[in-house]
Amino acid sequence: MDADVSVWWEAVKNISLRYLLFAAGTFTVFYILLRRWLGRRRIQRSFPGWSDYGRDLLFSMLSIAIFSSLAYLCVGVLRPWNHFIYGSMGQVSLAWHLFSFVWLFLLHDAYFYWIHRFMHHPAMFRRVHLVHHRSTNPSPWTAYAFHPLEALLEAGIIPLAAFTVPVHLRLFSLFMLFQIAYNVYGHLGYELLPHRTANHWLGRWINTSVAHNQHHKYFKGNYGLYTLIWDRLFGTLRRDYNQAMESYGRQQ
Ligand SMILES: [Zn+2]
Ligand SMILES: [Zn+2]
Repeated sequence: MDADVSVWWEAVKNISLRYLLFAAGTFTVFYILLRRWLGRRRIQRSFPGWSDYGRDLLFSMLSIAIFSSLAYLCVGVLRPWNHFIYGSMGQVSLAWHLFSFVWLFLLHDAYFYWIHRFMHHPAMFRRVHLVHHRSTNPSPWTAYAFHPLEALLEAGIIPLAAFTVPVHLRLFSLFMLFQIAYNVYGHLGYELLPHRTANHWLGRWINTSVAHNQHHKYFKGNYGLYTLIWDRLFGTLRRDYNQAMESYGRQQ
């Protein structure tokens, strides 16, 4: 064991910085500066209260401590056994970087869908997942607002990345940047994609902010993360999803 606590602290700083950058940045732009001009992109007309933002921020900070602990374990303590590639990015071919990014994308997408379905099992929902669902009208601060047990399960992507195929550690950090950006988009409360997305040959596979917003509002259906592949395959996409996508910003 050659890991010291600085690995944990480094992880806390990096993960907090990424979360605060995207959550605070989008909150400032969408909820304060341009709020009056973005009505046509708003998914639910009402807005959460400051107590909702505060609660989500607090739970997110707790989740970050848990994510960092698992990162410390996988990257620091278990360093001799993990498959992360350390050193310069240039040592690895571009093709491998691309492959490992796509691998992480598909792996995380599948992993999230199934743990999310598990979280909706009656035995888990009230005790654990309800913390995330207290925001029926999510905001960027909701992105990491999990019960500690759910945060631990969500962090499972770290050991999955560390012990499956070799991935450059910096590329993994880049992937984590993409992950939080997409997560904040999913909880944004505003849709950035066009109304026709749900009917487009490619767009129909993309998990939109409207899809995840419906999940928070109704608690049922639309369990995906980046794609709707698993929801479409297993019949869990809400029947009113297409209509919600076509009409966001024009109703409620
Ligand atoms: Zn859920
Ligand atoms: Zn959510």
